[in-house]
Amino acid sequence: MPTTPQVIAGSALALANSKCPHCFGIGRKREQLICSCVARKIFRAIWNRYYKEISLSNRGRTTLYKSHFWSYSRKSEEYIADVEIAIKHTLTPRDYLIFKFCYIQHIQTDTVCQKLNIPRGSLFSRRYLIEAQLGKEFIERGIWPIDEYFQSID
Ligand SMILES: [Zn+2]
Repeated sequence: MPTTPQVIAGSALALANSKCPHCFGIGRKREQLICSCVARKIFRAIWNRYYKEISLSNRGRTTLYKSHFWSYSRKSEEYIADVEIAIKHTLTPRDYLIFKFCYIQHIQTDTVCQKLNIPRGSLFSRRYLIEAQLGKEFIERGIWPIDEYFQSID
């Protein structure tokens, strides 16, 4: 069952940046259920776990999670696929290019600015928005909270 933003709103305070100028550290804004600082923190947690799962699967480890009385699932592989699908579904082609350069290929900021012909400030603004957008999408798709994702029964 996907986690709704209302469910996550209860933990927004714990995830909020105490110096956030938008929510002043409470993690919620009037017109939105969660603040972008919370969504970005969720994005980073999901992305860090994604790398961990990728590195474990590259070592040949496959973990079977008992997902039903008679069946098992490959949660690591499902998690990797769900994160990649969410990213590709959510981002525009231009934003996906930024994402690929900055988060997958780890290309230096100045090189990315040259490749895309955008100023440094614009790149950081786009990255900020991409992270917040993806954090919210991960909540909508039930990828967050991570612990619940790995314990879920399909
Ligand atoms: Zn905030």
